[in-house]
Amino acid sequence: MHDALVAWLRVAAGRLHAEAPALTALDQAIGDGDHGINMDRGFSAIVAKLDGQEVPAGSDPAADDTTATADLLRLAGKTLISTVGGAAGPLYGTAFLRAAGAVAGGQPSTAAAFVTGLEAAAAGIGALGKSTTGEKTMLDAIVPAAGAARAALEAGGDVARVIAAAADAAEAGALATVPMLATKGRASYLGERSIGHRDPGASSAAILLRVLADSTARP
Ligand code: ADP
Ligand code: MG
Repeated sequence: MHDALVAWLRVAAGRLHAEAPALTALDQAIGDGDHGINMDRGFSAIVAKLDGQEVPAGSDPAADDTTATADLLRLAGKTLISTVGGAAGPLYGTAFLRAAGAVAGGQPSTAAAFVTGLEAAAAGIGALGKSTTGEKTMLDAIVPAAGAARAALEAGGDVARVIAAAADAAEAGALATVPMLATKGRASYLGERSIGHRDPGASSAAILLRVLADSTARP
């Protein structure tokens, strides 16, 4: 899991950099136009930490994959919280920290670890943001993604199938934010004028899960 997670964080950073102008344009419509910049900054900082990370002498990264994976999720979460000024930094940061806690508990499979981690991430965002689905936020992508992932896992899906289900549901969820009225975050200041625009945070969440699905797809 650890190595796949490192690969995902690196590819995600590149993808968020490429998508930064589009995410910022979405945030210009219903926020302050910094979501792309925020995500790009946060994930570049994660990559910088990965590049600078020293593997302690004599340690075998494969020895305890669960601990290594949880440590990496924690590093990503802390980095997002400390480098991203906008609401998305602490929210995504908390999501990663909660996912770390879920993974550290030990799971029967990578697919189960992903589902439990995503559920914990959604719960963490909701607790910090005092938010739930239907409020035109990242939760409108992440909560359905976690639900679809859980359903795919219970139907016997392997990790590729489970993550693909999450990515599909996140994209559908992000699209479904267009007609919603924003009641949380900056977009809520616009009231009725928030209707008709896709939420930036739901869009970045869909991107992150799509990148993960692409990197997990069977050859
Ligand atoms: P800011 O709003 O501080 O400028 P960003 O632009 O980086 O921060 O992030 C905005 C995104 O954060 C929104 O599109 C929304 O998805 C998400 N968001 C904002 N407030 C909340 C909240 N209370 N709960 C969940 N997500 C939220
Ligand atoms: Mg913003």
